[in-house]
Amino acid sequence: MHETIFDKIVRREVPAEIVYEDDETLAFLDIAPSNPGHVLVIPKKNVRNVLDADKDTWMSVMETVRTIAPGVMKAVGATGINVISNAEESSGQVVFHLHVHLIPRFENDGHKLFVNKKYEEDEMSVVAEKIRTELAS
Ligand code: AMP
Repeated sequence: MHETIFDKIVRREVPAEIVYEDDETLAFLDIAPSNPGHVLVIPKKNVRNVLDADKDTWMSVMETVRTIAPGVMKAVGATGINVISNAEESSGQVVFHLHVHLIPRFENDGHKLFVNKKYEEDEMSVVAEKIRTELAS
């Protein structure tokens, strides 16, 4: 089992600004926020990311996300929120303990999270068919 700093936060061995806790999950402020009120929701259980998560662990994290998102937004006066979970290095994951970012958003805050690419001709249907085949196997 790979230990990360988030396990130490769960055990209170490393300080964190904890804003919510229940039996399965913990929510605390990201130390390097994209905006004020940027919260990380984690399972207390040591799970690497969504690709590694059992259903109960994932559902408990998402239930905490659903429960706290409106309060996080209200506390900082946000008008929107991004819910993001990185999985593996190519996606930007640097802490290998499952976490969901709650990033409060404000009108004209300057963030651009997604780039929009274009498919080549016929590429979209080929990609969709590959995914359908993979999911059916
Ligand atoms: P990711 O790139 O999705 O793995 O995000 C990891 C996040 O954890 C980053 O946004 C970091 O700023 C945040 N982080 C790392 N160490 C700590 C810590 N000790 N307390 C709070 N947030 C942390």
